[in-house]
Amino acid sequence: MSVQELIDVPRRYGGNPDYVLAGGGNTSLKEGGVMYVKASGSSMGDIEEKGFVRMDQKSLDALWTADYPDNEDEREEQVLEDLMKARLSGETARPSVETLLHSFIPFTFVVHTHPALVNGLTCSIGGRAWAEKALGKKALWIPVVNPGYILAKYVKDRVDEHLARGNEFPDYIILQNHGVFTGGNTIAEVDQRYQLLMGKLEEAIRITPDMAEEPLSGADADVLKAAVKDVYGADAGFEYISIKQCGPWLESREAAAPVFSALTPDHIVYMGHEPLWIPADGDQAAALKAGVASYEAEHGKKPKTLLIQNRGIVSCGDSEKVAHLSGLLFRDAVKVSVFAENFDGVQFMPEDKIAFINNWEVEKYRAKQSS
Ligand SMILES: [Zn+2]
Repeated sequence: MSVQELIDVPRRYGGNPDYVLAGGGNTSLKEGGVMYVKASGSSMGDIEEKGFVRMDQKSLDALWTADYPDNEDEREEQVLEDLMKARLSGETARPSVETLLHSFIPFTFVVHTHPALVNGLTCSIGGRAWAEKALGKKALWIPVVNPGYILAKYVKDRVDEHLARGNEFPDYIILQNHGVFTGGNTIAEVDQRYQLLMGKLEEAIRITPDMAEEPLSGADADVLKAAVKDVYGADAGFEYISIKQCGPWLESREAAAPVFSALTPDHIVYMGHEPLWIPADGDQAAALKAGVASYEAEHGKKPKTLLIQNRGIVSCGDSEKVAHLSGLLFRDAVKVSVFAENFDGVQFMPEDKIAFINNWEVEKYRAKQSS
């Protein structure tokens, strides 16, 4: 394998915002008992050879028969320790949180992404039924499971059952409220599988989001920006978003339902699990400050997405980067939510799974890496 082959797939998929946003997604390549997997915190679009961690395949396989404690925190801590030990000597980076999932997929190349089009399916009520009809045994649908070892183990068990029924290894592992795993033994095969999936989805889509920017009347971005700086500090990041699609959603708290909860783990990490709704009446700056204070009292952190009634959306945070990523994921959430209308409507993550991500150590690590 050449370095070119190693970086080609992640760069192509990671450099395409239709597939990957904010350093999400990951790829791996297996060769001669070694799995090269994306390091946590490195981003696919501009990855170099050092953005990969080399893992010993045998040591990874041994994790499936290891005994881990039932206690969530202890278990994840021990799994992480074993993952670190499974690195080839000389490796210092932390492998992707999804390393274990990559490790048992028998394709040379494995490409995991979170495309808005695919998530329109994974975050919908009718997604599973559609996938079963359109993709048949080629796809395996996985309901929402807490990430980390639990998810990898759950998927492996479902795959083993699928194989035991006489099926081939599925071309697609579709993770509800998350994304898709696919791959192939050649780059051409990877591309072919993605094209087939995306082609079928495009055929099924009738309702598409209107992402045209359209400033709403009555919004005073300067006033809002000053208020954000007051509340989030001098380094605060601020992005004012006004998309045609969101106009009617901003009429009331109820109308904003399509973006009022968490679609996937990345949405929780980057834009927050729930936006702050700010009613339009009265002084906008005062309403923003009061709203952020009560949100912080309730959730223990400040919101990153503010929905201001009939005025627009503000993505904000402690830094420019946090605000920018939040805006990126908000726009993605708009697309996902509208695409989901093609599959009987949007379905958010269950509350307990949202709470798990909010508390998850690995996600805190990722959020820290990106800020
Ligand atoms: Zn993922």
